[in-house]
Amino acid sequence: MRIAVLSDIHSNLVALDAVLATIGTVDAVWQLGDIVGYGPQPDAVVERLIELGAIGVRGNHDAAAVGGNEIEYFNVDARRAIEWTRRVIRPSTAAYLAALPERLIEDEVTMVHGSPREPTWEYVTSVTVARASFQAFRTGSCLHGHTHIPAVFRDNDGTIEVIAPRDGTILRLDERRVLLNPGSVGQPRDGDPRASYAIIDTDRAEVTWRRVAYDIAAIQAAMRAVDLPPHLVARLDHGL
Ligand code: ZN
Repeated sequence: MRIAVLSDIHSNLVALDAVLATIGTVDAVWQLGDIVGYGPQPDAVVERLIELGAIGVRGNHDAAAVGGNEIEYFNVDARRAIEWTRRVIRPSTAAYLAALPERLIEDEVTMVHGSPREPTWEYVTSVTVARASFQAFRTGSCLHGHTHIPAVFRDNDGTIEVIAPRDGTILRLDERRVLLNPGSVGQPRDGDPRASYAIIDTDRAEVTWRRVAYDIAAIQAAMRAVDLPPHLVARLDHGL
């Protein structure tokens, strides 16, 4: 089985469609939350995920978009984008986001947005948090997003190994437990502006990370057209 793993799409349909054009034939699409927020196309992105039959979890931006108090913790730009999202989304989009679980287990894989210990908010960015995270799920692998940075934390008998996957990196899955982050489709933050995602191939027992260039100017024009914050527009150029 081939599974496309997408996270942090952030209402960026241009990036999502560029990714979908490269994934080939897949048996499933799994998404790790933050479908909306920051970007200008929340309804269209949700529509696309429904067409794909995607399954997945909700992120902090998804929760905030449907009235969650998560918005109180957002910086000014994130808050402005979510207030805009709240105003414009169709009721069916809001219903889709509101129905997403915060944790999902599928085919012996755990999915969360932030961390398995704190699915909505915690960032898995350090060995310390990764070590604690391994205590908070029971499956062999846990997929997560939230940081917008592709990453692997692997538990080698209590020693946590850290890998920073690049375009084309292949990780072989074995008995060692792993935390896997596919990076962000719609707003990468590792200095590479290209959309990031991962493919799991269960027959080969491997995960491949991919980067895809997309028409950044097109999504930026769409953001300006609805008056989203200039900083959110500009950061897409740099992937930061
Ligand atoms: Zn995000």
